[in-house]
Amino acid sequence: MASGTLSPFFDAHVHLPAYPDPERVVASARTRGMSLVSVTVSAAEAAPNLLLRKAHPSTLRCFLGVHPSEALTSEGALDRLAPLWEGADGVGEVGLDPKYSEVSPMSTQMLLFRAQVEVAERLRKPLQVHSRGAEEACLDVLEGRSLRSLLMHWFEGEELLGRVVSQQSSFVSFGPALLYSKKLLRMARKCPVESVLTESDGPVPFAALGGAEGPGLVPSVAFKLAEIWGKSLDEAVHQLALNAESYLG
Ligand SMILES: [Zn+2]
Repeated sequence: MASGTLSPFFDAHVHLPAYPDPERVVASARTRGMSLVSVTVSAAEAAPNLLLRKAHPSTLRCFLGVHPSEALTSEGALDRLAPLWEGADGVGEVGLDPKYSEVSPMSTQMLLFRAQVEVAERLRKPLQVHSRGAEEACLDVLEGRSLRSLLMHWFEGEELLGRVVSQQSSFVSFGPALLYSKKLLRMARKCPVESVLTESDGPVPFAALGGAEGPGLVPSVAFKLAEIWGKSLDEAVHQLALNAESYLG
């Protein structure tokens, strides 16, 4: 897909294979003039995600990766993904999260994460990283790599924000939690505007938003960013579209 063709609203992180009817989510996003990056959590989701992109090449980018939640059941997953990554638009969702299993220098999660960061580096593909509760450990792995571009998705390491945005082609994404989280609000105020992307992490539901979920929440996030930046919604959406193009290349 040529650059410059992204639609105004951009959901940098949504799990289309996790929806019972992903076609409906794509159709609804398209009528809102949105572009989506669909990520996977396992090798089993790779084929469905690639098929979705094939059916909707102007709306969707397809990332492939194994999420830290799947680390302990991921035997053989990297071998299954190896022939598919070249045809994907990026690597994700990968990362570290002590909620699921051990995070230490030689733990399964760490080995899986490092291996997938190396894929992104070798293939020069954009990377998406989940870092909840392990922000510093993730940055320790990522720093000094020659990555095409990096997104720290739903990043919550407030005190580490400077470490992320000081790296070239590195972004953080804000999702619907920005509408109610004071910490994320502070982080959005501190983050350089050219380092920000928007996301939904759909189908994750947001209890504070009455259980709402999905790409349809992204325009509200963009509106909130416009308010934080002191820009009009049009100006903010234009900035976010430039950022998306810079991230995806
Ligand atoms: Zn996710």
